[in-house]
Amino acid sequence: MSPHGSMIAPAKVNLALHVVGRRADGFHLLDTLVAFTGDGDLLEVEDGAEDDFFVSGHYAAHVPIGSGNLVTRARDLLRETFGGDARAPVRLHLEKNLPVASGVGGGSADAAAALRLLARHWDLAINETDLIRLGLRLGADVPMCLASKPLIARGIGEALETLPAFPALPLVLVNPNIPLSTPEVFSALERRDNAPLPALEDLPDAASAVRWLDGARNDLEMPARRLVPQIEDGLGALRRAGALTARMSGSGATCFGIFSSADAAARARRALACEHPEWFVLETETLAAEQPDADHAHP
Ligand code: ATP
Repeated sequence: MSPHGSMIAPAKVNLALHVVGRRADGFHLLDTLVAFTGDGDLLEVEDGAEDDFFVSGHYAAHVPIGSGNLVTRARDLLRETFGGDARAPVRLHLEKNLPVASGVGGGSADAAAALRLLARHWDLAINETDLIRLGLRLGADVPMCLASKPLIARGIGEALETLPAFPALPLVLVNPNIPLSTPEVFSALERRDNAPLPALEDLPDAASAVRWLDGARNDLEMPARRLVPQIEDGLGALRRAGALTARMSGSGATCFGIFSSADAAARARRALACEHPEWFVLETETLAAEQPDADHAHP
């Protein structure tokens, strides 16, 4: 496929996630600091004689194909909304590199990438506000994935405050390759009225970000660990490999470790991949706040 029509769908990492309440309709209210990585799934588009959607990559077999997939749902939503140019058939290819149902929001990231990529491909007249509104119809986390910048999300994840300054953080992600359903983790949660995130300070570098993060938590980590005890192994292995701090992302089971440098993260990745060949292990870096654009388009 032409590299022109491609976009990375970055992994979403909840660096901290506090569950602060629950709405009458059952949705949980969150307070979460989110960053996005430079790596993720890859979505490509090109004109086709008819619509087509195919998936490759390490986690392809775990992705629902057809109307349940967030990529085709994004395509169909744009088509319903715009008609006209959005009727042109497209071939979509998703390289699924992120583990599915793993707390790094791969499905939401794919949906956000599909909205942006197809809006560009079809040259649709849509502004950022309307794109975000459409994204929300696909899932509460899609608007934050459209932003793909360090941010604090509140409410059910849709009230976004992008951070004017936040450092890039060298990270290693690990997942025991055990999918974990988000509703199951929320059901196992004991307290839903936890304190909000500590007030955000000026965080110019990784060391200050780590200090701030150590005063925060992921309230879903405990219930997730009861469901998947291997999460504890992931956290322990990251710490032994030299992580300054290690925590679970989202509803798990992916855990991240923050390292003092890209070299330290690379060494840890090699050690962890060797020690646990059955795990997903990714060395990456979060995108800093001052990224010039949010769409990570390939040139
Ligand atoms: P979150 O952190 O937002 O809770 P997650 O990382 O735990 O998300 P996803 O990988 O986004 O979970 O998958 C959630 C569900 O979405 C899966 O059960 C899967 O069936 C469905 N899904 C639909 N489209 C996709 C897609 N393109 N990639 C992955 N999952 C998808």
